[in-house]
Amino acid sequence: TRGPPRAHSTPGSLLLKITKNAVASLAYTLTNDDGEIIDSSDADAPLAYIHGIGSLIPGLEKELEGKLAGDELTVHVAPADAYGERNDEMIHPVPRSQMPPDAELEIGMQLQAESEHGVHIVTVVALEGDTVMLDANHPLAGVALNFEVTVVDVRDATAEELEHGHVHGPDGHDH
Ligand code: ZN
Repeated sequence: TRGPPRAHSTPGSLLLKITKNAVASLAYTLTNDDGEIIDSSDADAPLAYIHGIGSLIPGLEKELEGKLAGDELTVHVAPADAYGERNDEMIHPVPRSQMPPDAELEIGMQLQAESEHGVHIVTVVALEGDTVMLDANHPLAGVALNFEVTVVDVRDATAEELEHGHVHGPDGHDH
């Protein structure tokens, strides 16, 4: 019988398990509990990440531990193990005069905001006269996530990748 596709593996190479400091390449479809597709990546352009250094949400990384190239898994991740629960204290009123003057604000619009913690995404959740209500929760906070994952490839990370904390090469970071 034919084995699962292993696009980047050398024939006969030892199958590596996903363990700390392995680079795994994943094809996946991410949906919410309503079945709406939030994100996806196919086997021709998989997501490559270094396992065990916090690159993925914890609920997914935990389930990938020990998996091999060709393995398929379905993972349901509760919000607490994904992007966290929603926090209503992260909704702030901001005077419209502090918004970019040319912005055509509408509910649901996402903007980049800068703070002492760096750049993050805020969502316009209400427009009340001269006040704009901005929600600084992660757009996926409070959302349970469902992943259909196929492990496309597993290899060891290079010393340089571990030093940089990201994957190099065709599926990853290009310097
Ligand atoms: Zn790098």
